[in-house]
Amino acid sequence: MQPTLETIAISKFYKGDNAITRAVDRVSLAIHPGEFVALVGPSGSGKTSLLAIVAALLRPNEGAVLIDGQDLAKMNEARRAQFRREKIGFTFQQNNLVPYLTALENVELMLRLNGRYNRAGRERARELLTRLGLGERLNNLPRQLSGGQQQRVAIARALVHNPSVVLADEPTASLDTERAHQVVETFANLIHEQKRAGIMVTHDLRMCQYADRIVEMRDGKVKNSIAERREILAFASSAERVSTRMEQLGAAPVAAERQMA
Ligand code: ADP
Ligand code: MG
Repeated sequence: MQPTLETIAISKFYKGDNAITRAVDRVSLAIHPGEFVALVGPSGSGKTSLLAIVAALLRPNEGAVLIDGQDLAKMNEARRAQFRREKIGFTFQQNNLVPYLTALENVELMLRLNGRYNRAGRERARELLTRLGLGERLNNLPRQLSGGQQQRVAIARALVHNPSVVLADEPTASLDTERAHQVVETFANLIHEQKRAGIMVTHDLRMCQYADRIVEMRDGKVKNSIAERREILAFASSAERVSTRMEQLGAAPVAAERQMA
């Protein structure tokens, strides 16, 4: 089976005053239809750069990106922009909703941009928002929604035009734990059902339990890849134990550790 998304030894360098940062260093990944990958790693390890390259927003210095078998580098700027609109859905940390459009209109905007503002598309927009728990909020403006609700509108917007690849950078950053679980679980289910290739960057390692694979980055490289279900669950539940312990220690875990020292 042809992967939906393939990166072949891609690298991205940033030139500083006297040093070059290898933000992404020869990363090769293949993600198949219906596969949901959690991308983790410390700050600065290259996760956002990798996502931006896959989203066709940033060109790699080396290597190739194929989406549905098509090489992004072989497209001119206009074709690439069109390809990105059709094939890729993304949500970034800042949700970038249009402030004067309602939740539903924000999602439908994606259809208008693609020339797919038809009855089926509009139904899909409502359905997605309803599945994400916003059925009663369709006509609210972003400022009338909580941060978590806004984030869910952004997720609906990333999926409504049936993209092949769906990318999410820290989609749960502004959500409480319970909401985060609901959102990521729904996101994973949609990716599985609709056979998209999904990548989610997350700092909350507990969210990895919904992924089919965990890819861990370090210094621009893939340091570790976990695809076995049992190991994925073990990884997520050890993160769960650490979080629970932090919560038990209250709002000032560092202070508690100092007292013990
Ligand atoms: P992450 O998302 O994992 O935190 P990034 O992809 O944002 O990692 O950054 C990877 C590395 O590249 C970091 O060292 C960062 O400082 C550097 N970097 C990212 N974007 C730029 C840029 N536009 N110019 C220069 N350096 C950058
Ligand atoms: Mg980042």
